[in-house]
Amino acid sequence: MYSSEGSNLPGNPTVPLTALQCSDVRLETLRPILSDEPISVLLITASQGVHVGTLGVLRPQVGGDVLTGIHILLTLKCTSECDHCFLHCGPSREATFTLGQLRTLIRQIEELETVNIVYFEGGEPFLFYPLLLEGLHMVRAAGFEAGIVTNGYWATSVEDGLHWLRPIRDLGIVDFSVSDDEFHRLDKNDRRAEFARQAAQQLGIPTATICIEPPSVSLQAAEGRRGKPVVGGGVLFKGRAAEKLTAGLPVRPREELTTCPHEDLLSPERVHVDADGNVHLCQGLSMGNIWETPLPDLVRGYDAQKHPIAGPLLRGGPIRLATEHGLAMNDSYVDECHLCYTARKLLLPRFPRYLAPKEAYGL
Ligand code: SF4
Repeated sequence: MYSSEGSNLPGNPTVPLTALQCSDVRLETLRPILSDEPISVLLITASQGVHVGTLGVLRPQVGGDVLTGIHILLTLKCTSECDHCFLHCGPSREATFTLGQLRTLIRQIEELETVNIVYFEGGEPFLFYPLLLEGLHMVRAAGFEAGIVTNGYWATSVEDGLHWLRPIRDLGIVDFSVSDDEFHRLDKNDRRAEFARQAAQQLGIPTATICIEPPSVSLQAAEGRRGKPVVGGGVLFKGRAAEKLTAGLPVRPREELTTCPHEDLLSPERVHVDADGNVHLCQGLSMGNIWETPLPDLVRGYDAQKHPIAGPLLRGGPIRLATEHGLAMNDSYVDECHLCYTARKLLLPRFPRYLAPKEAYGL
């Protein structure tokens, strides 16, 4: 949409010219991506003709896309210990934000000036309900939209769920997602996720269900793999899933695993942040630490190609990650994430700053 040129405008020689190439756009549409420092802008649109003026510099971006979503991992403690959990969450995990840390993070998110939505998830965020409420309050007061992901363990009935959710409805959220599948339901008669969803719907809260099926194998005719076994079910084989759910599944030659199929490592539009300060590009793959470098500086300074893990993944996927770092790997893996997670775990002692927290590797 835009490109930055090195030329100057007549009458304002000290300010660099930015040429904005748009099919048609109004000036107001541009303002959200601009900040306050002056820069001269040449704007050519169908509706407004040629405009030359001073608007502001482009807001900080990661690569090409703007970082618009922050997912706060409020705690890694959880009521369950699901086999498919990317972060090895469970009852014994302790990492949880303090109120002060939450306040600092939200201030940093404001300073970033690109974020529009903040999610609270975990672990199970309702385990720290007062913290969740106060965090939501701060996020809404800062003008962000908010969402929550929960397993609904707290809704022992719809009526009970209504009491938990009324304060949240009053603060206003745009997404209430309930994890409801075989992994989360220890007992097939457990209806708490359903009660939570019903209570949210009764209160008019926008509600969604996250349902991951156990891995299944079929002979689907996937493009380029006609007649070959295909793993379905929606599980991504990273975190605990890579260690607990891959046995017996069909595998692919490692030479085929040349891309990261699920994350935009060059220009992430959303990242997860945990209480230890790690900014996750993918679970356990950290851009850096906000308790050492504030989020806006971290984002502005992020150079994916120079990142020791994201760089190789961008250049040639998980197999490139393994070869660039001289790892001896097996000949085949279930999918890209399976090889990536396995390689990253081997690299953890060499790159503890970027492969964090170590608990994301079950350590
Ligand atoms: S390939 Fe690696 S970085 Fe990409 S989604 Fe899978 S585990 Fe994450």
